[in-house]
Amino acid sequence: MDIQSVGIVGAGQMGSGIAHVFALAGFDVLMSDISEDSLAKALSQIDRNIERQVSRGKVTPEAKAAAMARIRTTLRLADIGPSDLIIEAATERETVKQAIFEDLLPHLKPHTILTSNTSSISITRLASRTDRPEKFMGFHFMNPVPVMQLVELIRGIATDAATYQTLLGVVERLGKTAASAEDFPAFIVNRILMPMINEAVYTLYEGVGSVKSIDESLKLGANHPMGPLELADFIGLDTCLAIMNVLHDGLADTKYRPCPLLTKYVEAGWLGRKTERGFYDYRGPVPVPTR
Ligand code: NAD
Repeated sequence: MDIQSVGIVGAGQMGSGIAHVFALAGFDVLMSDISEDSLAKALSQIDRNIERQVSRGKVTPEAKAAAMARIRTTLRLADIGPSDLIIEAATERETVKQAIFEDLLPHLKPHTILTSNTSSISITRLASRTDRPEKFMGFHFMNPVPVMQLVELIRGIATDAATYQTLLGVVERLGKTAASAEDFPAFIVNRILMPMINEAVYTLYEGVGSVKSIDESLKLGANHPMGPLELADFIGLDTCLAIMNVLHDGLADTKYRPCPLLTKYVEAGWLGRKTERGFYDYRGPVPVPTR
């Protein structure tokens, strides 16, 4: 199937990054959010990020202008219903995502493919609440979307081959690489990455190391480009906690128990970079560890 129009639900870090790469690849993008502020921030963030690509000679000024002109925004979810492809990238909470799909259903075209950028939630379960489980898939981009090469493609139990092939074609048109994952909690990347981040928080909680020593250890001792706590702040601590809860509930193994310190940071509203405070405080000129 030929995809031209793409509707994105949620204009946070992921929704805005997804809009950025689709618009540059020539798709028409309509982005929706419940927050006008998020939509405005997303547009200025996309503008700034594409401008950076222009200054590095990766994108021409004309391509930037054309991409920006392809992105529209709306506060009405129903407006994105007629898109060829919908990518849900709202907050990582199953009730939020289910309500979005339920509200979208009456406005969809028969051919519309529904996808979720969820990091961990069951695609089969989300799909089963819609009228088109065969046209429903997990479409998992990595953060930051314009930089990261991988897209995880997750088929639910009912997803048909045509939908999978269509999304493979879309990934190719974006110039990215697809990896197929089966529909089990947190799929591949976060099944492996998130327990490591959670373990780093336990290491901090138990006083084995400070924020600085934990991050430095993994950067200099394991050659990771970012320390696990720095990475957790980048992902969003609410998202990290939500993924650990999905792993814990879905696999019923205590090894996935979310660290109480992670819960405490989320309860404090210290969600990482997006709220300017997490394991580091980002309000000054350089990030300062909070522990
Ligand atoms: P975020 O907190 O930056 O943004 C979420 C956005 O969703 C906000 O703008 C919020 O206003 C909006 N929203 C909430 N409820 C909504 C609704 N009912 N309708 C429309 N919009 C709504 O979160 P994020 O980091 O962009 O994560 C979004 C999704 O992407 C999650 O499912 C997350 O698991 C997934 N994801 C995140 C990362 C990451 O590194 N942060 C990576 C891959 C996938």
